[in-house]
Amino acid sequence: MATIREVDAVKMFMGKLAHGADLLEEITKICVDQDICLGRIEALGAVKKARLGYYNQQDHEYHFFDLNQTLEITNLIGNISTKDGAPIVHAHITLSDEDGHAYGGHLAPGTIVFACEIAIQVLDGPNFVRGLDQETGLPLWKMNE
Ligand code: ZN
Repeated sequence: MATIREVDAVKMFMGKLAHGADLLEEITKICVDQDICLGRIEALGAVKKARLGYYNQQDHEYHFFDLNQTLEITNLIGNISTKDGAPIVHAHITLSDEDGHAYGGHLAPGTIVFACEIAIQVLDGPNFVRGLDQETGLPLWKMNE
C-alpha cells in the first residue's frame, strides 16, 4: 500500500550552478546552506562528464558507470529529504549526446557541471527521513515511524 503525506509549497529558489562544480555536491550544498530539508528539484543544462548509478535489484548494490564525454542535461528531477539529520538529495538524470542518444540513471558524485540552471521548490510538512529498507536494501523514506 502506498503511504503519502500532505506537504505545502513554501517558496522556490532558481539559479545557476558554478562551471566545473560537482553537480550532486553543489545541489546538496545549496540545501545545507539554505536549510532545505524537504523539497523537489528540477534542472537542465550540460555536463563535462557524468557518473551515474544503476541499482542491481538482485544484489542490492549500485553499479556505477562513467560517461567521459560532454552531454546535455535533458532532464534532472529529484527530491530533498533527510538522512542522519542532514539534507540528502536524491536525483535521477537523463543526458544526451551529440546524436541525441540518451543515457540515464541515479545521479552520483563525479558528474561535473558545464552549465546548469536549477529550480528548487521548498516544501513544508512532516519530516521525510531516510533509513534502510530491508526489502529493497535502499535508504527509503520511513513513513510509518
Ligand atoms: Zn536513485
